[in-house]
Amino acid sequence: MKASESKKSKIAAPAKQNLLRSIPQVDEVLQWLTDVIDAPMFLIKQSVREELELLRQNILSGRKVNKSDLSRKKIIARVQKRLLRNLAPNFKRVINATGVVIHTNLGRSILPFSAREALVEAGTRYSNLEFDLATGKRGSRYSLVEKLLCDLTGAEAALVVNNNAAAVLLVLDTFAKGREVIVSRGQLVEIGGSFRIPDVMAKSGAKLVEVGATNRTHLRDYEGAINEETAMLLKVHASNFKMVGFTKEVLAEELVELAGRSDLLVMEDLGSGCLIDISKYGLKKEPTVQETVKVGVDVVTFSGDKLLGGPQAGLIVGKRKIIDRIKSNQLNRALRIDKFTLAALETVLRLYYDHETAVIEIPTLAMLTASPEIMGRRAQRLSRRVKKNLARKCTISVRTTGSRVGGGALPEEELESRAVVLEPLDRTINELEKALRTNSLPVIGRIEEDRYILDMRTVGDDEIPLVANILHQVFGVKP
Ligand SMILES: *Cc1c(COP(=O)(O)O)cnc(C)c1O
Repeated sequence: MKASESKKSKIAAPAKQNLLRSIPQVDEVLQWLTDVIDAPMFLIKQSVREELELLRQNILSGRKVNKSDLSRKKIIARVQKRLLRNLAPNFKRVINATGVVIHTNLGRSILPFSAREALVEAGTRYSNLEFDLATGKRGSRYSLVEKLLCDLTGAEAALVVNNNAAAVLLVLDTFAKGREVIVSRGQLVEIGGSFRIPDVMAKSGAKLVEVGATNRTHLRDYEGAINEETAMLLKVHASNFKMVGFTKEVLAEELVELAGRSDLLVMEDLGSGCLIDISKYGLKKEPTVQETVKVGVDVVTFSGDKLLGGPQAGLIVGKRKIIDRIKSNQLNRALRIDKFTLAALETVLRLYYDHETAVIEIPTLAMLTASPEIMGRRAQRLSRRVKKNLARKCTISVRTTGSRVGGGALPEEELESRAVVLEPLDRTINELEKALRTNSLPVIGRIEEDRYILDMRTVGDDEIPLVANILHQVFGVKP
C-alpha cells in the first residue's frame, strides 16, 4: 500500500477483511428484529439492507468502523432509526428561515389558518363542487369563485385553472392557435423552473412575433407588426427582473387603444397579480389586477400563490365574451382546478373584501409588511433561548439583514429584517447547514460570508421554541 493510501484509510487491509466478515447476514438481522419492530416486512428488509450496505461501504472506504459497531444492539438501533426515517412522509413541513417570503422551492405562499377547516371539509365531506343547489342541476366549479373574483377585480367574468402557466396556455390556445401574437422583446421572460413565455406560446400553437429592442419597445413597433394573421397583443409583466437605464415599455392603455382600431385582443400576463396596492405598506408599486382590468385589457392572467397569498392556481379575469369562449375550450378540462385549491382560494379571496384584514390574515402579505421591530423581537426571543446553553459550541448574535419577496415578484426590493446569526465553533458552516437541513423537522436558513443566517421574517412566532429546540439538538446540548 502506498503511503498516501494508508493515510487516507484508517483501517489496515487484513482488519478490513475481518470487519467485512463480521457483518451479519440480512436474515440474521431480521430474526433479531422480529419482536422489536412493528412495520411492513418490505420496509424492514429494505432498511436492514440499506444499513448493512452502508456499513460495508464505510469499511471499504476506510471510514472508522469498530467491531462494537457491528454488535447486535448497535445494528438494531441503526436499523430502527433508518426505518423511522423510511416510514416518515417524504413531503413534509420545513421551517423557512431564508427570509424569502414567496419561496418557490419551499411551497410559495402559505395559507391562512382559517383555510384549514375549508380544506379538511373539502377533502373529507361531499360538496357542491359541480352541483347547483338552487336548481338541483349540474353546476360548474368555476361559478363558486367567479362572482367573488369579479367583485374584487371589477372584471365582467372570471375563470380559474391549475396555475398561471396553464392560464396563459389556455388563453393563447383559445384565441391565437395558428395565428400571430405580438409581444415586446423585453417581455419574453423565463420564470424559475424554466417556464418560458415563448415556449408556452409555441405549445399553444400561437406564432410569436417579437417587436422592439431588448430595452425599448414603442407603440409604432406593435403597429408595424399587425397584419391579417394577428390575433392578439400580449403584455407580460417582467416579474422577476428589472430593466434599468434607457428603457421604454408601451402602456397597457396604449395597447388597448391600438387593438381597438384593428379589432384585436389585448392580453396581460400579470404574473404575481396583486389585489391591493402594496405601495401603501412601504413596498414598491406593483400594478393591481383592478387597475389592469380598468384600462380595458380584454383578458388578464395571474398566479394564486404569489403576491395574492393563496393556493397554487391560475386566475383569468376579463370581458364576459372572452371568458365564455375560454370556458368552452376542451383543453380546460385538462387544466382544471381541484376541490382543495378551490376551497382554499375562496377562503383567501373572501379576506380581500377588507384590505386591512387581508394584510393581517394572509401570511404572505403579513410577512411582507411586517416591521423590522417584529423580526427584532423574534430574533431576541430565539437568541435568549439558546445563547447560554450553546455558548461553547456557537457564537450567536442578532443582526440586521435584508430579506426578499421571492416568487419572481419585486426582484430588486430588499426588505429590512432581523436575523439570528450563528457562527459554529465545533464544526464548519456547511456541516451546520446540513445538520439543520436534514433534521426531522428541517430548518432552512442561508449562508452569508461564513455565517449561518436565520432570517426571522419567515419564521412564525410559534416556531421560535421549535427552532430553539432543534438548535439544542443539533449541537448536542440539553435545553
Ligand atoms: C410566475 C409567472 C408565471 C407562471 O405562473 P405559475 O402560477 O407559476 O404557473 C407566468 N407568467 C409570469 C409573468 C409569472 O411571473
